[in-house]
Amino acid sequence: MHTHFIYFCASKLSLQQLPVITSNTIVRCRSCRTYINPFVSFLDQRRWKCNLCYRVNDVPDEFMYNPVTRSYGEPHKRPEVQNSTVEFIASSDYMLRPPQPAVYLFVLDVSHNAVESGYLNVFCQSLLDNLEKLPGDTRTRIGFVTFDSTVHFYNLQEGLSQPQMLVVSDIDDVFIPTHDNLLVNLKESKELVKDLLNALPGMFTHTRETQSALGPALQVAYKLMCPTGGRVSVFQTQLPTLGAGLLQSREDPNLRSSTKNVQHLGPATDFYKKLALDCSGQQIGVDLFLLSSQYSDLASLACVSKYSAGSVFYYPSFHHVHNTVQSQKFQKDLQRYLTRKIGFEAVMRIRCTKGLSIHTFHGNFFVRSTDLLSLANVNPDSGFAVQMSIEESLADTSLACFQAALLYTSSKGKRRIRVHTLCLPVVSQLSGVFAGADIQAITCLLANMAIDRSICSSLSDARDALVNAVVDCLMAYRANGSNIQPSGLITPAALRLFPLYVLALLKQVGALYAYTQIQAALHLNDSVIPQPPLLQLTAEKLTREGAFLMDCGSVMFLWVGKCCNETFIRDVLGYPNYASLPSNMTEIPELQTMYSERTRAFISWLLESRTFHPAFHVVKDDTSAKTSFFQHLVEDRTESAFSYYEFLLHIQQQMSK
Ligand SMILES: [Zn+2]
Repeated sequence: MHTHFIYFCASKLSLQQLPVITSNTIVRCRSCRTYINPFVSFLDQRRWKCNLCYRVNDVPDEFMYNPVTRSYGEPHKRPEVQNSTVEFIASSDYMLRPPQPAVYLFVLDVSHNAVESGYLNVFCQSLLDNLEKLPGDTRTRIGFVTFDSTVHFYNLQEGLSQPQMLVVSDIDDVFIPTHDNLLVNLKESKELVKDLLNALPGMFTHTRETQSALGPALQVAYKLMCPTGGRVSVFQTQLPTLGAGLLQSREDPNLRSSTKNVQHLGPATDFYKKLALDCSGQQIGVDLFLLSSQYSDLASLACVSKYSAGSVFYYPSFHHVHNTVQSQKFQKDLQRYLTRKIGFEAVMRIRCTKGLSIHTFHGNFFVRSTDLLSLANVNPDSGFAVQMSIEESLADTSLACFQAALLYTSSKGKRRIRVHTLCLPVVSQLSGVFAGADIQAITCLLANMAIDRSICSSLSDARDALVNAVVDCLMAYRANGSNIQPSGLITPAALRLFPLYVLALLKQVGALYAYTQIQAALHLNDSVIPQPPLLQLTAEKLTREGAFLMDCGSVMFLWVGKCCNETFIRDVLGYPNYASLPSNMTEIPELQTMYSERTRAFISWLLESRTFHPAFHVVKDDTSAKTSFFQHLVEDRTESAFSYYEFLLHIQQQMSK
């Protein structure tokens, strides 16, 4: 039997108060290469015992001096042994080549469809606004490729009076027209870059090109970036129709409304995966922004990011005028994307106590060996889940330790090693495991596993597996429990909401890239703002007199009841009464009232450090939009899914089989 530990680590590049250590000797176990950490033991002043493999190591002379207290003879007070997260400035031993500069290549769809959506204007304006804030230093390089049925390059050589466009129309054997000045030093060519960004939106206004040569554009992006590595940001608005990597529509219009049997969750071609692996090998990460109003086969396209440690940003039905919600979300996401920290040419190794081993990794990366991930790019929003298995008895040890070491190049060209060490107690009773269970970590891992299962097998298999996870857990608890009650479902205290979290996943799992944070309804029409009470997600909790905020991670709703207090409507939404409220409000105005300030303060607090900016909707009780609001009331019954009460009964039935 495999018993699994769950271990999460975010790269946390933006961690505050991080101890940064510059030292000639980075102290590591001679046997398993674990970095010295707070959970090692000192046998005496000159010897330490590794907490992962138990080897006894010598304490080097340099380690006897503590730079923080400037004293000798206290190795256990060094910052490495006082902090479970530290960062080392790495020496040349940790480099295969000199650290690369920050390199950014933008690959932009300029077909008729793309121009019509209006995204190019939003993108160019956002990059112009944030050009000075792109992470990097004097070596930072930048370049642009645009494409429709052909691929276009831009010569940005310093000294030119304006950017020069070069068109390559042979997309079957696409080549780079010149090897110089397509990726230029940002500082030297800044004015030309600005000229290009100002000109781009107008350059394709009257285009009649409807075809998309995305694959060839990605092939040249790879060739351009090969010598340095870096980040490729791809903006695509339709199905690729020309050249390598072209895709056919796999969607059957008759099945569109059915969520029961979703087909084609796996890729139609291995082109994007192969390209991603080539990119990963050259330290190139590819991020995909899909802004589409039509079927674009995200299942195939997403592979280009999945295997190159990139990210996917998806804006269904994007249009700069007709869909202001998505347009605002795109702007806000871009703002964070362009300015957040970034690390390049990274690898992450995870070590664990002897007797444990890594079972599966979840996330976007290339697995280079059993415990080593290749990450062409890392950022503060990267997260990874790791499933561990117990291979040998842990009876002889009281602690299980995990250490993640991320070796990366900062945007300032410094090679650094971020080391996180986690230590958990080993318990002999199952009740101890239940008492320490982390419901959010478990639910998040289950969501990852369900996504993998739905791609390899089917969505219904993934759903069954989720239900079985609850059933297995509660059966194990019941079998182990001493105070069994005669009836009813018994859950361990730490997992009391486990069935509800899984039900929430089941109701969302149809949307693959939906984020699985559990929604919360919050009473805003109340004087205890900015901490309004948290309510159960059921229509029973709504009142006509109130206004309720629902946070679903990727979308936020403010539901306004028919008889909602007019002070709230006036002071927060800026309209005299319920009847005058428009049905398509997508933001809260900045009004100089106490109510407005508190509401906005509370929402900003919810959004702090979130990777994606949620779409925001004000929902009136009498509009069609309220359907999507009610769908998120996870405890209630919907046409195709159980209510919470029915789900608990279902679990109970499964357990008595
Ligand atoms: Zn060791």
